[in-house]
Amino acid sequence: MGGLKLRDSVTALRGVGPGSAKRLARLGIAEIRDLLLHLPLRYQDRTRTTPLGELAAGTECLVAGEVLGADVNYGRRRSLLVRLQDDSGRLAMRLFHYSRGQRESFAPGAWVRCFGAVRMGPMGLEMVHPEYRLFPSEPPPPAPELTPVYRQTEGIATARLAGWIEAALADVDEEFGIPLPDQDFPLLLDALRCVHGRAVDEGDVEDGEARTARLAAARRRIVLDELLAHYLVMRRRRAARGGLATTPLPPTRQLGRELLRNLGFRLTGAQARVARDVLNDLASNVPMMRLLQGDVGSGKTVIAAFAAIRAAEHGCQTALMAPTEILAEQHFETFSAWLGPLGIGVGLLTGRLAAAERRARLAAVAAGEDLVVVGTHALFQSGVEFQRLALAIVDEQHRFGVEQRMMLRHKGEVPHHLVMTATPIPRTLTMALYADMDVSVIDELPPGRQAVRTRVVAMSRRNDVIAHVGQAVVAGAQVYWVCTVIDDQEGETNGGGQPTTEATATRQASSNLGLGFPPRDPERAATTTFDELQELLPNVRSALVHGRLPATEKAAAMAAFKAGEIDLLVATTVIEVGVDVPNASLMVIDNAERLGLAQLHQLRGRVGRGSARSDCVLLYQPPLSEVATQRLAVLRNTNDGFAIAEKDLELRGPGDILGTRQTGEQAFRIADLAEDAALVPIATRIGDALPDSAELAGQITSTWAFGAEADYPEM
Ligand code: ADP
Ligand code: MG
Repeated sequence: MGGLKLRDSVTALRGVGPGSAKRLARLGIAEIRDLLLHLPLRYQDRTRTTPLGELAAGTECLVAGEVLGADVNYGRRRSLLVRLQDDSGRLAMRLFHYSRGQRESFAPGAWVRCFGAVRMGPMGLEMVHPEYRLFPSEPPPPAPELTPVYRQTEGIATARLAGWIEAALADVDEEFGIPLPDQDFPLLLDALRCVHGRAVDEGDVEDGEARTARLAAARRRIVLDELLAHYLVMRRRRAARGGLATTPLPPTRQLGRELLRNLGFRLTGAQARVARDVLNDLASNVPMMRLLQGDVGSGKTVIAAFAAIRAAEHGCQTALMAPTEILAEQHFETFSAWLGPLGIGVGLLTGRLAAAERRARLAAVAAGEDLVVVGTHALFQSGVEFQRLALAIVDEQHRFGVEQRMMLRHKGEVPHHLVMTATPIPRTLTMALYADMDVSVIDELPPGRQAVRTRVVAMSRRNDVIAHVGQAVVAGAQVYWVCTVIDDQEGETNGGGQPTTEATATRQASSNLGLGFPPRDPERAATTTFDELQELLPNVRSALVHGRLPATEKAAAMAAFKAGEIDLLVATTVIEVGVDVPNASLMVIDNAERLGLAQLHQLRGRVGRGSARSDCVLLYQPPLSEVATQRLAVLRNTNDGFAIAEKDLELRGPGDILGTRQTGEQAFRIADLAEDAALVPIATRIGDALPDSAELAGQITSTWAFGAEADYPEM
């Protein structure tokens, strides 16, 4: 045998026909490689047989017993009851489906070894449809290895899947994984043999602890390979970018200076530094690929404006993409106000434009009248024809997912890219995940900002909070009241064509964590809260926004709030990203326990944007889970997005930070960045010592298949 290649189809294995291949495809398994990387979810301990006298209902065990007899039982449902015994006790094995041959095989005196869940039946302990095997006499002790349990799909028994994996492991005849310079690391293939449970020396019975350590070490080796592969691919992508050419945008008319004079504020040192980074990049004919990180309210938008102005000076177009319509709308307003006076045309393109309006907009873009085009991701999906696109800006990049790199091509060229995120990513992760980009950080807030004072308040004091809102409005404040759901009927939060919301994912996570608590009260809905607040605060001018409202209504409410015509804006988390109303100085978040740290921090970032002292009230419904308690405490104690991100990584994993949960995308097959964060610097260190060779790249691709250049869509 042998000779199996990693990229061979699974049908190259004996016993895998087209039918099985189709079922395997449902598990994401198409090639031999996928099969090998289909790691066990957990292991069953079948290394020990439990004496029948020691069995307890509710456990899963391996047992062996001598057949006393097998009788058909005509209860509510016909079943075959096989009675077993050993020196210590008895057990019944119950089969509802059986053949006559099966029935006859259970001859008294034969032995059965079976594995399954023990439950209390009408006549004592029993196992229903366990996995079993017959022996002519007492069976030998079981093999000293744990049995892997795999994620399954209908129509493929776990034993068959395990058999195929075993066969593939035995027959693969190709370098697999990245050869690591360090002797301490086993070969990837050996690590895989180990986690698939096939690497125990016969007779060498290890204790549970040694086994656990061995499995963990093997898993680490596999994760390291994946992280390293990702890093090397990113590095290669970066190198490849160096070979691309695009329109250089060197300084010309210095229109940016005019904006600077009209802004009404001075740039912070950090903003000035980052603006220089960006403008320098633009001057080059190598496409810029820069990630701009800056905490909420640090002033990223104006950097984007300078970049767009530079492109416009050359008669080139900029596409600015925002994750929500509200934010796109707001950017459109801001850019119109900033760039309009400079004679730069700005257009808005969202999915909800009326057909005629849309046609007019598209024509303006194609004719190059709109030099800046702001939109949601509809902008990039609907085949918009630019006249001369030279710059693509993606705001709140984390909302679009990690792997969905926004690399665009325009008429054969890759335009300059600027991606902005308010989500602080811990440095170690940035290095690994964004190794294909240059990174700039705005690490300073505009002067005069005061930390938002945050209080955590139980739902029982909600009426006090409402009264406080009334007083704040009388004193001239504008207030956000944020709810986690739109109305009482459903749990959907952010409509508006967005990807799966973070709130949903978080709610699932926190309800899982909340297992063992009594059922929670329903969440406060935006629509009912709006009615409630209007009734209790009749003199307060209020408005409601949520994702299911028509775009025009949303825009009108936001505009009125921004203009100060509305005092109180009741909203769902649609206002989470980017919304900028500097005069708003109080935010109440209902059911704050349902939201993740990153999201709460983003929401809170809507206040504290002006010079007034701002407050945030986190209303929670007791009882709080352990993690929710910690989350709220973190938020109360710090306003620093980086500190919050580190804490978040610790408390619940990087999904929130990196946006994978929102988009449902999986950046990695196996690595879990929360659990494996410590391996990231090791991977980058090893990676830096490895040559940037095509051979290595080929090996990585055949192992992990991070789409190399394939994900640069044409536009
Ligand atoms: P974010 O980084 O969250 O996108 P914005 O760009 O929306 O932040 O800026 C937040 C607010 O701060 C805006 O009202 C903006 O006009 C204002 N701002 C930006 N830079 C400065 C500055 N240097 N001084 C004062 N205000 C600023
Ligand atoms: Mg912003």
